[in-house]
Amino acid sequence: LEAHFSVIEKENGEQNGLIAVLHDVTEQEKIEEERREFVANVSHELRTPLTSMKSYLEALADGAIEDPEVAPRFIHVTQTETERMIRLVNDLLQLSKMDSKDYHMNFASINLPQFVDQIMERFEMSTKNESITFKHKIPDRDMFVYGDRDKLTQLMDNILSNAVKYSPEGGTITCALKAEKDRVLVSIKDEGVGIPKENIPFVFDRFYRVDKARTRNLGGTGLGLAIAKEIVTAHGGSIWVSSDWGKGTTISFALPLDEEAEQL
Ligand code: ADP
Repeated sequence: LEAHFSVIEKENGEQNGLIAVLHDVTEQEKIEEERREFVANVSHELRTPLTSMKSYLEALADGAIEDPEVAPRFIHVTQTETERMIRLVNDLLQLSKMDSKDYHMNFASINLPQFVDQIMERFEMSTKNESITFKHKIPDRDMFVYGDRDKLTQLMDNILSNAVKYSPEGGTITCALKAEKDRVLVSIKDEGVGIPKENIPFVFDRFYRVDKARTRNLGGTGLGLAIAKEIVTAHGGSIWVSSDWGKGTTISFALPLDEEAEQL
């Protein structure tokens, strides 16, 4: 921050004021710093699974491969680590594409209640064994938004997979949808661990995780909500979170209604 001061003088020479002009010379430095931090984060996130894989592979090479009890377990670990790295690299590619605006959106009119219902159904199917109940609070009428189907699918996937990940056994995930003025509000509520108040402002930041060790075990990359935010923003909408530590979390987003399609 650069500061310039000027003293205000009355005609009689008496000084009765001070003007301070603060100039932000650090914007460029801030961007640089963020970039450095991002690269450091990426390196760290990739090094962790690689280091872990290296030691498991070494143990296998040192003889564990002959042990019918241990070998499959060790191989499984290297598989999950590889899968997580692939997820991470995919997420990074997606973010970098959105950053560089090097992507085009395939905009079309989408009937949101139907669209959200379908995605919920897919999650219900794929989490059958986890005894999670899905509740739909979705009105039985058409509501159109103008959006990119793939991107909005990813948005829902990222939010819903968190809700599943952080839900306790027997928990309920409620998806509600309603039109409000010129936008549609979608909210996904879970009964999971929740997010402590002081962490809430950061959950959309890249690589931010409330509990690093824990979420890493759950397979998280720390990029899911950052991507969600990029997608919502690219649609002219907004996204926010409310949460009670220990009680659950609600992620909500709003998208502009496609007024033209509504009138058809
Ligand atoms: P991750 O891949 O680690 O889930 P996200 O960007 O999707 O990364 O989320 C960032 C962090 O926000 C998570 O690590 C977790 O701490 C917190 N979080 C997100 N969704 C929920 C939720 N439904 N319940 C509790 N915590 C959540």
